[in-house]
Amino acid sequence: MVTIVSSKAFMTMHKPWYEHPENPGRIATVVNAVEKVGYDVQWEEYVRDQDEGLKIAEKIHVRGYIDYLKRTKNKTPCELDPDTYFVDDTLELALFALNLSYEASIHARRSNDIYLVLLRPPGHHAGRAGKAMGAPTQGFCILNNAAAATISFLEQGYRRIAVLDVDVHCGNGTEEIFYERNDVLNIDIHRDPADFYPFTCFPEQIGKGRGEGYAVNLLLPPRAGDDIFLKFIEIVETIATSYNPEALVVSLGLDGYLGDGLSDTRLTSASYHSVGSLIKKLGLPTVILLEGGYSRGLEYGVDAFLDGISGRRIRFKRKTTTPVLLLKEYLGTARDIIRRIGWLEK
Ligand SMILES: [Zn+2]
Repeated sequence: MVTIVSSKAFMTMHKPWYEHPENPGRIATVVNAVEKVGYDVQWEEYVRDQDEGLKIAEKIHVRGYIDYLKRTKNKTPCELDPDTYFVDDTLELALFALNLSYEASIHARRSNDIYLVLLRPPGHHAGRAGKAMGAPTQGFCILNNAAAATISFLEQGYRRIAVLDVDVHCGNGTEEIFYERNDVLNIDIHRDPADFYPFTCFPEQIGKGRGEGYAVNLLLPPRAGDDIFLKFIEIVETIATSYNPEALVVSLGLDGYLGDGLSDTRLTSASYHSVGSLIKKLGLPTVILLEGGYSRGLEYGVDAFLDGISGRRIRFKRKTTTPVLLLKEYLGTARDIIRRIGWLEK
């Protein structure tokens, strides 16, 4: 079973004053897609409870950054950076999203079930102090929702949390926040950042100190197809099973979908179905948070993902393929990195 949660606030608040891919229309698109395949959405009432949200934010972000966001409210509308707009109700909505993410982990633990929260603004690029791991911008993100869900699980007594980020851009904020911890295994499948936002999170970045071996970056080459993504999901299953996590947080970005708009990757329904299937197979208390996804991914990606989660088997007529030399090279790199993970049973 999967419980799907959203709020009408995500469809009206934090609205850009110019054309921008991250806008309230995204939630209407993804909700339509979800309802079309027969799922109900549980609507959360928007509550302007800044204190709760701020308490959670302080567990994730440095005080200086939170103060900066509060001050920025007086200068709206403005941009935090060339990617990330900020309007008068941006902070309110980001705090509400953070709160929902935190609460979702409480519900997931109680019901031992899966929660999918369709929210915005996305969060996975937001690091402790905003920009993370040398990225040039915050990539539409204000506060880190995946970190809130993860910290919530830890506070409830879980000692091993797996985070899986399948957004086509690396979740560099999440990676930075947990980079030195071994109670959070962070696995991130993303387009090679050599020439792609956020230009950080390479395979050799494997965590630090106690966290060494607990950050895993699996790189998709340019024009990556379903074939390599499906291989990576097999690798993720092996790593996750070996880690034996007690709970799972998924950053569900749907922007790797063929033609979604921001990426040259060519993933289709087969890839997103495999993510859903893996979540079902792991059978853990799980919180899934929407990250990116701007057009086709929101429609067709989420549909296939839900089929996977519900155990509906689908034979995909069409799976996209990766240019053959790139497939070999990038699979080789991934396997080299896996060999370097000290704690992994091989
Ligand atoms: Zn993205």
